[in-house]
Amino acid sequence: MESEPQELQELKRRLGEIRDLHRAAAVLSWDQQTYMPPGGAAARAEQLATLHRTAHTWFTSDEIGQLLEALRAPAAEWDYDSDEASLVRVTLRDYEKARRIPPALIAELARVSTLAYEAWVKAKATADFALFLPHLEKIVDLNIQIAEALGYQERLYDALLDQYEPEMKTAQVAALFEQLKAELVPIVKNIASQANPDGDAILRRPMDVQKQWDFGLSVLRDMGFDFNRGRQDKSVHPFTTSFSINDVRLTTRLDPNYFPTALFGTIHEGGHGLYEQGLSPTLERTGLDDGASLGIHESQSRLWENLIGRSRAFWTYYFPRLQQAFPEQMGDVELETFYQAINAVKPSFIRVEADEVTYNLHIMLRFELENDMLERRIPLRDLPEAWNAKMEAYLGIVPPNDALGVLQDVHWSGGMLGYFPTYSLGNLYSVQFFEKAKRDINGLLDQIAAGDFSELLKWLRQNIHQHGRKYTPAELVLKVTGKELAATDYIGYIKQKFGELYSL
Ligand code: ZN
Repeated sequence: MESEPQELQELKRRLGEIRDLHRAAAVLSWDQQTYMPPGGAAARAEQLATLHRTAHTWFTSDEIGQLLEALRAPAAEWDYDSDEASLVRVTLRDYEKARRIPPALIAELARVSTLAYEAWVKAKATADFALFLPHLEKIVDLNIQIAEALGYQERLYDALLDQYEPEMKTAQVAALFEQLKAELVPIVKNIASQANPDGDAILRRPMDVQKQWDFGLSVLRDMGFDFNRGRQDKSVHPFTTSFSINDVRLTTRLDPNYFPTALFGTIHEGGHGLYEQGLSPTLERTGLDDGASLGIHESQSRLWENLIGRSRAFWTYYFPRLQQAFPEQMGDVELETFYQAINAVKPSFIRVEADEVTYNLHIMLRFELENDMLERRIPLRDLPEAWNAKMEAYLGIVPPNDALGVLQDVHWSGGMLGYFPTYSLGNLYSVQFFEKAKRDINGLLDQIAAGDFSELLKWLRQNIHQHGRKYTPAELVLKVTGKELAATDYIGYIKQKFGELYSL
């Protein structure tokens, strides 16, 4: 392109302002979860609603549509990989989707979700599913209406999944999950029969929270997180958000009696943060300055948390440092004992506490139930029983109550169906990426064992981070690894790592 068409300049100007609104909303919701006093909640909810509504109105305006229409034909001639062609291509897709959902439906889902969240908090506290049931009925109804408005070819679920994982299809997820299930269920059964109930007792030794915080920061610094362009704070539920490529916020939580909460949480969010800091500066304020999808974002956090943070190589370097920081708690522990403890596998009720082997089975159960709910194969009042039956089949355990079962996750109360699969997709992407990185970088594991992550971070930035939302997840995976997403690498990884740990 010799000179930028005037329509492109105007489109960028408008998208920049819309992005400013989203980033400002991110500041408000970061503050809400970190420092805001409880009294601020009602005003904050209004402020956030106004910003989101305004951003949506501006984005779905006829003017944006006209600019995109004017650019559609010329952009098809531009280099597919260029920022400009990608901006038009991705924004067209976003625009067409956003225009299909009636604003009244979005407002109704927001209203219903606020009430549903309150009901869910009470229902979970008292393990009483009946309190949540009428709200869930409405949320399922509204999601069906949204899916119909968005449109789909094969499965209703496709339309909802697409909001979180662009272009991913339900049939593809189902096929990947069937392969995982066939391999993982027998492994879990085998491990459960030999699990040591005290396997992680050494991790429950009390540790000073300030020292935990400092240790986490030192790991973040080594990973390459730039504290000139980001910071870490505390929150009840850890998360990562970003106000700019040059201002990325992480949060963590500290448990004085279980230090893996903070440490692995910090490494996990650090992986998300490195992705945000690694986006190309040329994408700032375009709307492409974000991860390719939730699954790809999660691949970055899981890669650092599990493939690196729970590896022998990583602890070869860090275990002596952990012993130095916590001589009373760790001085008498062998590296191998520690490695086994942080990789202990045990079927458990709660997804967010699940280990690497059982985690995906928790997701599969939710994916199957969501499809059953949306395609009306199961009356919602029967959901707790259906949940428990699947827990029994996949993990061999039955939750004693619904707080430890069907009521444990916040997602449905927030109106989100179709979100869960992105966690497992993140696991699959992470291993497929990491296998490629190991082939591309000579001696990568030796570098990690020396506490040197610089070549890995460079590889991640070049191959994944810098592209932001320019490519769909499928395009990105093919571009980076030379093949489509498959379960093979992941299954191989699990069998190798846990086969050795548990002599399977
Ligand atoms: Zn995450």
